[in-house]
Amino acid sequence: MIHNVLILGAGSAGLLAAISLRKMLPALAVSVVRSSDIGVIGVGEGTTNSMPAFLFDHLKLNRSRFYAQAEPTWKLGIRFLWGPRDYFDYPFAFQLSGKWPYYSRPSGYYSDEDFHGIGLGSALMEAGNAFPRNAGAGGGPDMSVPFGFHIENVKFVETLESIAQALGVTFVEGTVSGTERGPAGIAALLLEGGRRLEADLFVDCSGFRSELLGRALGEEFVDYRRSLFCDRAVIGGWERTTEKILPYTTAETMEAGWAWQIEHEHHINRGYVYCSQAISDEAAREEFLRKNPKALQSPRVVKFRSGRYRRVWVDNVVAIGNSAGFVEPLEATALMTVTRQCKNLILLLEDAGLRPNAALRDLYNKLSSETFDDTRDFLALHYKFNTRLDNAFWRQCREETEVGALGALLDFFHENGPSCLASLVLPSQDRNVFSLEGYLAILVGNRAPYKARCQLTDIERVTWDHMCTTFRTQAEQALSVAESLSVIRSPLWRWKGETS
Ligand SMILES: Cc1cc2nc3c(=O)[nH]c(=O)nc-3n(C[C@H](O)[C@H](O)[C@H](O)COP(=O)(O)OP(=O)(O)OC[C@H]3O[C@@H](n4cnc5c(N)ncnc54)[C@H](O)[C@@H]3O)c2cc1C
Repeated sequence: MIHNVLILGAGSAGLLAAISLRKMLPALAVSVVRSSDIGVIGVGEGTTNSMPAFLFDHLKLNRSRFYAQAEPTWKLGIRFLWGPRDYFDYPFAFQLSGKWPYYSRPSGYYSDEDFHGIGLGSALMEAGNAFPRNAGAGGGPDMSVPFGFHIENVKFVETLESIAQALGVTFVEGTVSGTERGPAGIAALLLEGGRRLEADLFVDCSGFRSELLGRALGEEFVDYRRSLFCDRAVIGGWERTTEKILPYTTAETMEAGWAWQIEHEHHINRGYVYCSQAISDEAAREEFLRKNPKALQSPRVVKFRSGRYRRVWVDNVVAIGNSAGFVEPLEATALMTVTRQCKNLILLLEDAGLRPNAALRDLYNKLSSETFDDTRDFLALHYKFNTRLDNAFWRQCREETEVGALGALLDFFHENGPSCLASLVLPSQDRNVFSLEGYLAILVGNRAPYKARCQLTDIERVTWDHMCTTFRTQAEQALSVAESLSVIRSPLWRWKGETS
């Protein structure tokens, strides 16, 4: 039976795991080893809408304290400067995988020409605003629109650490230099200076180093290089002056990859993710700075490899975060994967009465592989259908990117277009993290070709225009990110269900 859990690493993965374990399984003693010599990766600043839901609905953390300390801004989705359109928006709010009343077909069929503001989420993105005004609460932000966060990695980690400490997690400062093996897998971690730390379960959150799963246990790494060609990022940013805080991440096509723009309150974070086979570090840096002359604050290069370990739970070691696997941040999915891994770990430990067996470990590994592989395939779709640039790198992406398990979905789409029935051929079905909405956003956004064209009737055209105008009006009257921040910082503001 598990009594003690030792987490290696105090980045966002290690701390989210520690908080989850203490909150959901309070009988467990939880310790975290962290090394200030190694530090945290310092990137990972955009989330999906899974993060607020995980922190506040699942873990029931206090919103006031979290917002005050971590100072996140809100992200309604991603704006893609991608494909043949000037841009298209992929909001977290559903807009393509359903059918509005009065229309014979789902919305995607009517979005060939104009794919802007066809739902409230994308209309808000179009208007550059965050939340509709809440008529019933003094005009404050109505946060029922799905959102994720833009959140500075260092502030996020500091906030999580203080929450973990308050929950009774023990922190040990030190660098792990080796392990001692035992019958259950790993018996103890050995720290520089001679300290020895035992536990029943070890959670490897050591980031790309994957100290326990990769190095100590030698688990096989499954490489994603045939689907995702990028392997480096040059990262920079600048202090915000007059730029409006946008309620979305921007993903812009570049010569040999793409660049993100993340909107913190006082800082704009930019990064160019590129393929080192297609462009040198120097040329990538030069292109990055040419397009972002303000990003002169010492741009740094981060190397990564996309892929996952074959199993992430082996014996008494379970890896969470970058130590388990990584796909490039095109959809900012790493923290979402961490939240899934934490939830599944708790679910299985609870179910097993803290005595996990081989069958439960196999199930955990299946779920984790599924999440990573679905994410790989979803990102591959972005590369396969991006026709914006005609150069050697992007031609190779269109011709050679492998899309894994998406064959049936793409065949169906080519015949039938953005039909809701495509959900029946979606890999992983109900467990698919992106759901049909995500796939349709990328296919419709990139104008992927299909046969079953359909036109709006005259009546449909009038109601469609009216519907989009209603969304636009509501979005234009909505609160900006800056206005919403100022409301939630007012002493009069109360989060639902919180008294102070
Ligand atoms: C270019 C890039 C952009 C990204 N953008 C996003 C994004 O927008 N959204 C997103 O969700 N994710 C993004 N990510 C992924 C992001 O890194 C992770 O989401 C997140 O930060 C999790 O990190 P981690 O905790 O696994 O690793 P880390 O932050 O690296 O933490 C590892 C921890 O382990 C400790 N450690 C390691 N080895 C030892 C040792 N031997 N002894 C003691 N301690 C040790 C370290 O000190 C540290 O505390 C991005 C990644 C990259 C590379």
